[in-house]
Amino acid sequence: MPSPSLRLAVVGAGAAGLAAARELRREGHAPVVFERAAAVGGTWLYAAPASAATADPLGAAATHSSLYASLRTNLPREVMGFLDFPFTAASSAVDARRFPGHQEVLRYLEDFARRFDLYGLVRFETEVVGVRREAGGRWAVTSRKLGEKGEQDEEVYDAVVVCNGHYTEPRIASIPGADAWPGKQMHSHNYRVPEPFLDQVVIVIGASASAFDISRDIASVAKEVHIADRSAPASTCEQQPGYDNMWLHSMIDRAQEDGSVVFQDGNSIKADVIMHCTGYLYDFPFLGDDSTISVDDNCVDPLYKHVFPIEVAPDLSFIGLPWKVIPFPLFELQSKWVARVLSGRIKLPSKDEMMEDVKATYLRREIRGWPKRYAHNFSGGYQFEYDDWLAEQCGHPPIEEWRKLMYAANSKNKAARPESYRDEWDDDHLVAQANEDFKKYL
Ligand code: FAD
Repeated sequence: MPSPSLRLAVVGAGAAGLAAARELRREGHAPVVFERAAAVGGTWLYAAPASAATADPLGAAATHSSLYASLRTNLPREVMGFLDFPFTAASSAVDARRFPGHQEVLRYLEDFARRFDLYGLVRFETEVVGVRREAGGRWAVTSRKLGEKGEQDEEVYDAVVVCNGHYTEPRIASIPGADAWPGKQMHSHNYRVPEPFLDQVVIVIGASASAFDISRDIASVAKEVHIADRSAPASTCEQQPGYDNMWLHSMIDRAQEDGSVVFQDGNSIKADVIMHCTGYLYDFPFLGDDSTISVDDNCVDPLYKHVFPIEVAPDLSFIGLPWKVIPFPLFELQSKWVARVLSGRIKLPSKDEMMEDVKATYLRREIRGWPKRYAHNFSGGYQFEYDDWLAEQCGHPPIEEWRKLMYAANSKNKAARPESYRDEWDDDHLVAQANEDFKKYL
C-alpha cells in the first residue's frame, strides 16, 4: 500500500535540494530541508573574494561555492532551466543575456523557491553533521545550528535525500617535486578575480570549462599563462590563438626547488602560481558505514541508477551525482522518481536485479575504457537516455526534442568558437521552438 506522507530530511537547498523539496511535497510527503548557508542557491551563491580567502588555498574550508566573479553559464538559459519553470529573461532578470552571469541563475533559483513556496521548508544555517540508521530502519539526523551557541539536535526521519553538491571538495593533481617548489599553489575552488595575478607567471592545470575560463580571465592581467592539459600529446607547446601571453602544454613532469616547472614537452618555466583546475571529489562527511555506500576514486557505490544505495533503498537517496549533464532537468526527474518510489507508487526491482543493473554500468564503463572516476560521467549521449528512462518511470513526457538539439548545437558551437560561443550562435530556430513551448508554463 502506498505510504503517502513520510517525514523526510533533505540535505542542501541548492538547485537539487529545491527540486527535491518541491517534488517530495507534491507527492504528499513532508520534507525538511537542512541548509548550512543563510540562503538558497548552493553553488550559485557567489562568495566574494574576501570571504573566499582561506589559509589553505588548495582546500575547501572557507566557502561552499566555487564560482568566480566573471562566470557566465556554459549552457543557454533555455536548455538549463527546470522543465516546467522556464529560465527566461523575466521582468525580474538581473542579466537578460542568453548565457547570463551567475547572479541571474541565483535570481532564477530564488524565483523558483518563491514560486513553489519552498522557503518555509528550509532550516537555514543548519548543518547536517550525522545521519545514522536506527534499528527500525528510520534515520536519526543530527544537525548543528551555526552561530555562537552551535547547539546540536537529533531528530528521526523516515528517509533522507542527499543533495549536498559535488563542487566543493578540491581534487588536486599530484606533481612530483611540488612539496619543495617555492611558488603558490591553489585550486580553482578558491579563484575569484584575476587582479592578484597581475604580472605573474601562472600555470593552470586542466582542460575543463573552468580551466578554460580562468586561463582567459587571468591572461588579461598576468605576464604569462601556461595551460597544462594531460590529454594533450607530450610534445605540445602551442601559443594560443588571439593571445601573446598564453600557451598550451602537455602535463607537468615535475616542479623544482629553484621555482621552475618542467612540462612533458621539455619546456621549463619559472612560475609564481600553479592553479589546479582539476575538479572535485564527492564527499559525504555526515554519512557513516550504515549508509552502505563507499566512495572510491569518485565512484559512489553501489547505487541503483546513480540514486539509491541498494541495501537501504529507498530510504536513502542521492540527487545530482551525474556530471557532464544538464543539471536542473536531471535533478527534477530524479526527484520525481524518488518521491514516487518513497510513496510506493513506483516499485524498485529486487536487490539482485538492481545489482545486475549496477554491474551493467560497470561493464559499459570498462567497454569505453573509462577509469573508475568516470562512474557518474554521462557524456556521450547517455544523459538523455537516462532522463527519458526516469521520465517514463514517472509518466512524464521525455526531454523535449528542441532541448536535446540545442544542447548538441551548443556543444558544437563551444568547440568551434570557444571564445565567443556565449554571444554568437546559429540555433535561433531552436530558441523560437523553446519559447513557443514555454508559453504553456508562463
Ligand atoms: P549545490 O549547488 O552545491 O548545493 C548544495 C547545497 O548543500 C549547498 O547550498 C550547501 O550549502 C548545502 N550543504 C552541503 N553540505 C551540507 C550539510 N552537511 N548540511 C546542510 N547543508 C549542506 N550548471 C549549469 O546548469 N550551468 C552552468 O553554466 C554551470 N556552471 C558551473 C560552473 C561552475 C564553476 C560549477 C562549480 C558548477 C557549474 N554548474 C553549472 C553545475 C552546478 O553545480 C549545478 O548547476 C547545480 O548548481 C548543483 O546543484 P546542487 O544542489 O547539486 O549542489
